[in-house]
Amino acid sequence: MKISEILQKSRVTVSFEVFPPKQWDKIESTKTVVREMCDAKPSFMSVTYGAAGTQSGFTTEIANEIKNSGVAPLSHLTCLTSTRDKIHHVVNELQENGIENILALRGDIPEGFVFPDKQYFEHAYQLINEIKEMGDFCIGGACYPEIHPESRDRVEDIGYLKYKVDCGAQFLTSQMFFDNDKFLNFYEMCRIKGINVPIIAGIMPITNAKQIMRSIELSNCSVPKKFYRIMERFGDDPKSMKQAGIIYATEQIIDLMANGVNNIHIYTMNKPDVAAAIMNGLSDIIDG
Ligand code: FAD
Repeated sequence: MKISEILQKSRVTVSFEVFPPKQWDKIESTKTVVREMCDAKPSFMSVTYGAAGTQSGFTTEIANEIKNSGVAPLSHLTCLTSTRDKIHHVVNELQENGIENILALRGDIPEGFVFPDKQYFEHAYQLINEIKEMGDFCIGGACYPEIHPESRDRVEDIGYLKYKVDCGAQFLTSQMFFDNDKFLNFYEMCRIKGINVPIIAGIMPITNAKQIMRSIELSNCSVPKKFYRIMERFGDDPKSMKQAGIIYATEQIIDLMANGVNNIHIYTMNKPDVAAAIMNGLSDIIDG
């Protein structure tokens, strides 16, 4: 099923993200993780492409496992370091496998990357245009409540985001954030600037202190004092930190929903128990 239809017909949605393994010998254990995640009944599930050194070649394999487990898959696809032929190959592969949803991304600029003379894809909107020509896909894009690190300011960032939507992004998934006010301000600004597609709030449950530092570095997002205090108090005790991280993420989601944000995406870090615990904490809210 297309994500656009799911978003349209559901009162609220909670989706999950998984990443493929780095090596082929871990593919079966990742598929087990996917099946366990699907038991928690997410609205749909996305799978990353080449992020954090994972193998882009395994994305379709994992998307298929999601589909076979009865959940709609959303396959990420990055373009910056790809040729047009490679993009065509991947999109055709997705089509042949009946995967209808693609999150079209540029990808981060690798250190020392030199733009070739004839660079096909410098930005995600170009990938969106390319995919549109290739078939009847539901295409999404990424957005940044605290501004993409390469953008000069909020106005520029939202201007380019609007263009990405005008090119054909039917929904947007946000970078993670820990301060709901940042997201709510961004959400309002998008609506004022005429971005009217669903904007899905990206929530990262932080279940160990080391992980948060790495995640903050990568995402450029601010961390509220309340969260620092939790880390100071529980950071050295893995069980307590995990419980506190799950509760923080659940509270964040409830607050977003109370403010009218009905579409949530959980960066699960391939932890089915964490995803299930958050879903349990929301059970009556999602079903009600
Ligand atoms: P773009 O939309 O191209 O934006 C990148 C920058 O260029 C922004 O500053 C933007 O304002 C600017 N810009 C946009 N259009 C123009 C234009 N026409 N002219 C000039 N400037 C412009 N990475 C992976 O490698 N694999 C993944 O699976 C993955 N999944 C992600 C999922 C989500 C939800 C998010 C938020 C990010 C994900 N990323 C992933 C990271 C992403 O690839 C990086 O954040 C990347 O730096 C930007 O990608 P983008 O698609 O937002 O790029």
